[in-house]
Order: sequence, then C-alpha cells, then structure tokens
Amino acid sequence: MGNPLTPDVLVDPVVLTRTLVDIESVSRDEKTIADCVEDVLRRAPHLSTERHGNTVMARTDLGRDQRVVLAGHLDTVPVNDNLPSTVVDDLIYGCGTADMKSGVALALHLAATLPDPRYDLTYLFYESEEIESQFNGLHLLSQHRPEWLAADFAVLLEPTYGVVEAGCQGTLRVTVRTRGRRAHPARAWRGVNAIHAAGEVLRRLGDYRPRTVTIDGCTYREGLSAVRITGGVAGNVIPDECAVEVDLRFAPDRTEQQALDHLHEVFAGFELEVTDSAPGALPGLDAAPARDFVTAVGSEPAAKLGWTDVSRFSALGVPALNYGPGDPMLAHAPDEHVEIGKIRDGAATLHRWLAAY
Ligand SMILES: [Zn+2]
Repeated sequence: MGNPLTPDVLVDPVVLTRTLVDIESVSRDEKTIADCVEDVLRRAPHLSTERHGNTVMARTDLGRDQRVVLAGHLDTVPVNDNLPSTVVDDLIYGCGTADMKSGVALALHLAATLPDPRYDLTYLFYESEEIESQFNGLHLLSQHRPEWLAADFAVLLEPTYGVVEAGCQGTLRVTVRTRGRRAHPARAWRGVNAIHAAGEVLRRLGDYRPRTVTIDGCTYREGLSAVRITGGVAGNVIPDECAVEVDLRFAPDRTEQQALDHLHEVFAGFELEVTDSAPGALPGLDAAPARDFVTAVGSEPAAKLGWTDVSRFSALGVPALNYGPGDPMLAHAPDEHVEIGKIRDGAATLHRWLAAY
C-alpha cells in the first residue's frame, strides 16, 4: 500500500487529521504511522530528517537566531470501537482525534508547506506518550539524542481547545506511616494503636490551606490530598501500622526537593516515604518566540494543572507550553472528537506566528 499522506492530503490540515486518525497507532504499535511520517519529511528538501525507534525528527537549518520545537506524540490509547473516523457536521470522531492527531496534523502540515519559517524549526513526532515513561519517545531522546531537543522554545500540540496552557504543576506522592504495638483489644492498654495515631495525619490534612500561586499571569492552585489509607491486622488485634498515601500537586515555583521539604514540615514527627515524584515546569512566557506566539494566539494563557511532557523540555532548560485544537476533556473518551473549526483556527494561528519572516 502507498503512503496515504499524499501532497493533496498534506495541504489541508483537516483532511490530514482524518488521514492520520485512520492510521491506527496504539502505543508500541507506531511503526506504520512513523514510516508514513518519515517518508513525507524526507521528501521535503528544506528539512533534514532522522529517526530513533518510532520517533521521527525533522529540522530546518536556515541560520535563524532562534530555534523552536513543535512536538506531538504519534500514539493513541487503545481503540474503543471508534475507528475508522467519521464526520458528523463540524466534528471528526475517532480514536486520537483530540489527543492528538489533530495537533500532529498541524505540525506535519507546516513541515510540508512552510519552507522558510521565521525561526528555525525542529519537528518531533514521537512514540509512546500514553504509557509508562520508560517508553516515551521524548524521554528516550533525552537519554540518547539530547541534541535533537535543543531549542529556545517548544510547543507541544496536546489538546488545549485552542488556548495556550503554560507550565505545569509538579506531583509528589508520599506514604505517611504511623507505628504502634500489637495487643489484644481486651487488653488494649498494653498496645499502641497505629490507626488512632493516623488521626493526627488526617487532622493536619484537614487543616491544610493550599497555596494559589500566580506566575507570569498564570494561576496555579496547589492541592494536598489523602488518596488512600491502609491499616489493621484483624478484628481482635490492636494494629501496629497504618499508612496514609498523600498526593501533593505543587506549583512550578517549587522544586521537587522543596516540595518534599514542605511535606516534611507539614508532617513533622511522622515517617515519610516517597513513592512518586515529578517536577513541574515554569510557564516560560518570557522567551521572545513565546511572547510572539501568545500574541499570535490572541488570548491570555492559562495554567496547566496536570503533568505533561512540557516539563521534559523545562528540565533541559527549554521553555515549553501546550497548544492544540483538541478538547482535553475528550481525550481518551469513547466519543472522542475534534472540531474542524478548531483545526483551521490552529493552522491559521501557527501560520501567522511562523510565516512572518
Ligand atoms: Zn496526548
């Protein structure tokens, strides 16, 4: 079978979205779509193209002062009886329409049709974002091809419904453990009840007042929540251990270490064990290409409250933000769809920003 990404398809980001959606690419099964994308990019004389696994990178080398990355993941969550795509009025339905083939389509459309952008551009089409981090194409590049990620600014075309979402909050999950001594409840005074001791942990959580932090005009709301509690041995034993699992979402003005120090203060006197930790990312809106981008979009940026791959760029010192046509609420949903108008708006915005050389 020939490559469905023909020149006629590449010039229209809406048709291109649909064509990409119809190339099934569940995580770890991205070879076909990566082959098609690589083939398109290799045909463009203004790009140099390389591949690592099922991640494809193409870049211009025009000697511009600044370099911008446009990135999107090629994989989707498992198909849920929603392929091939269908169109109903202004909506394209199908697996990956919002998250994030419509965003990939914008980048691939630009790669194929914009030979002389205002900044040097690096296009990254990467594998396995929807599964464990060890398979993530950007993670693998950061280990094996970090020079492909070098830039002054990066846009991830993840679904944001046409709004700029800047930075992201960090995540820290810890287990707060209380200890006691087992005894028979008939002689409870001989034991120490670890579940009763956890009451103090819950009281501190209840009294906790999370911060709201504004950085570069983006407002981040932190949160500290118990997400699980376990304890108890049997109906006739005073328990000697209780564990409260606590999740902190922290604004990107704190490092992971500062977030952990903060939890040690909140739970002073208790044993803490870290089970998961991921840094946040500052909005990075002061880079010149970022300012121009926000102007091209024409609306105020919002804070990203979840964790996204922008923080991988941030960790490498590259300011990054999310901007894409899909609605994030529809990501991974069985009725996942994207508005055709949002795809056209997104393409026009990126063009306004990048073509003004
Ligand atoms: Zn995504």
